[in-house]
Amino acid sequence: MLGLMQDWPLLLHRIIDHAAIQHGGREVVSRAVEDGGLRRTTYARIRERALACAKRLTREGVKAGDRVATLAWNTERHLELWYGVSGVGAITHTVNPRLFPEQIAWIIDHAQDRMLFLDLTFVPLAERIAARLPSIERYVVLTDTAHMPETSLKGAVAFEEWLAESDADFVWAAVDENAAAGLCYTSGTTGGPKGVLYSHRSNVLHALACATPDFLGLSSRDTVLPVVPLFHANSWSLAYSAPMTGAKLVMPGAKLDGPSLLELLESEGVTLTAAVPTVWLGLLQHLETKGASLSTLKRVVIGGSACPRAMTEAFETKYGVTVSHAWGMTEMSPIGSFCSIKPAYAHLEGDALYDLKVKQGHPPFTVEFRLTDDAGVDQPWDGATQGRLKVRGPSVASAYFRREDEPILDDRGFFDTGDVGTIDPGGYLQITDRSKDVIKSGGEWISSIELENVAVGHPDVLEAAVIGVPHPKWDERPLLVIVPKPGRTPAREAVLAFMSGKVAKWQIPDDMVLVEAIPHTATGKIQKTALREMFRDYRLPA
Ligand code: AMP
Repeated sequence: MLGLMQDWPLLLHRIIDHAAIQHGGREVVSRAVEDGGLRRTTYARIRERALACAKRLTREGVKAGDRVATLAWNTERHLELWYGVSGVGAITHTVNPRLFPEQIAWIIDHAQDRMLFLDLTFVPLAERIAARLPSIERYVVLTDTAHMPETSLKGAVAFEEWLAESDADFVWAAVDENAAAGLCYTSGTTGGPKGVLYSHRSNVLHALACATPDFLGLSSRDTVLPVVPLFHANSWSLAYSAPMTGAKLVMPGAKLDGPSLLELLESEGVTLTAAVPTVWLGLLQHLETKGASLSTLKRVVIGGSACPRAMTEAFETKYGVTVSHAWGMTEMSPIGSFCSIKPAYAHLEGDALYDLKVKQGHPPFTVEFRLTDDAGVDQPWDGATQGRLKVRGPSVASAYFRREDEPILDDRGFFDTGDVGTIDPGGYLQITDRSKDVIKSGGEWISSIELENVAVGHPDVLEAAVIGVPHPKWDERPLLVIVPKPGRTPAREAVLAFMSGKVAKWQIPDDMVLVEAIPHTATGKIQKTALREMFRDYRLPA
């Protein structure tokens, strides 16, 4: 027997409709890509312009199932387009501009995108690769006529001019809630990048799950600054969960440096912000140099790569800001877990609290975990046994775009994340490594993440990375690579001595080298492949 409740498909346009009706006057503030100034609009106005976008897209011939690409920063225009595209049943393909031009050309071609909307910043890049983008019929620059550059891009027009030919007299497309709405490619360190195709339903459920109190915990009283870009897997749901809850949005545009972020955090009264650790490194350094404080910020969400314990402690003890360590991946829309404090741990303080907060946390409803060994045998949740982390849920990929016949799920429908970790009896996940980065020493696994976390706590260390290097007896041993703080030259012995007692003796790196910079991927993670390449000829001291 079926229930007798209404059939109300979970479509993304309902989010912006709700924001406009219930929180219509709530502001969306953006740093303009043109001149760095601030532009102000509201959810009501964003909805109107999203409807106009949808109507204009229809006139361009864009229809349900078509892909529309963006190469764009977080701004209100990107958001209008984001809702406009899914509002006609088409698919927003947010392209990560930090990828190599060859990869960008490859994925736009692979996705067969029909139009490309791009910020001024990326016009030269698009011109360079345009000849390799035969599927793109028209380019729209996310600016106004006054700032429109001379360009050879096909049919190029300024977004404001393009939109001015339209109006909000449009009815959102009534597509199935399982219809595709968004496309994001993983950075693809091995093989070509892989496309993750989100649906209306998966994104709505993900945003709902993320908004709950143990996770993003958003309310209409919050002011949210998503530093994490729309092109990094739906800005960790914030472009949906903020309007869904009526939180004010502050979009940082192209300026993600410490001083620019601090200015926005303070001038707009931001209460919650989210980004990868490297961004926060920049902000913390700036705060320290300036002797500044954070007067309104309550919570910072840190994920995308492991949040070092020292970073959590700095935010919490020096600035009174609560850190939520989050883990996830493009294939999960992307959030998989959040480290919020369950009641059994509410009494923890000091070191014991930070021991917990260094973990990646527990999953929201809609995400299930499974831990197995290489043979697929379930491993105990004892906080010590490492295993391959597998996930299942309505916002987890079931296959990659245009590779639908390649199975990616195990016998029970779980997706192998490629991450290795432990789960403790309280249900908290701790990621110890990517399966390909874990250091295999004498049959034991050493977590590069754990070593990095400890090393970065040394007062002279700015950033740390650990890779495995060949060893005649142990197969691999850890090599610590560090970027020192400006003006410091920490000695190898001092840093290794600092680490001793904080990790097992046999896990202490065999050597340490200083570098000026550690390579990062397009999503801000330490690029272990590039680092291993840098140290290909390195030999451990005898
Ligand atoms: P991406 O799809 O680019 O977001 O990358 C996902 C991968 O980033 C995950 O599979 C992890 O290896 C890594 N990652 C994300 N968040 C964390 C975290 N909090 N700690 C450690 N690794 C993380």
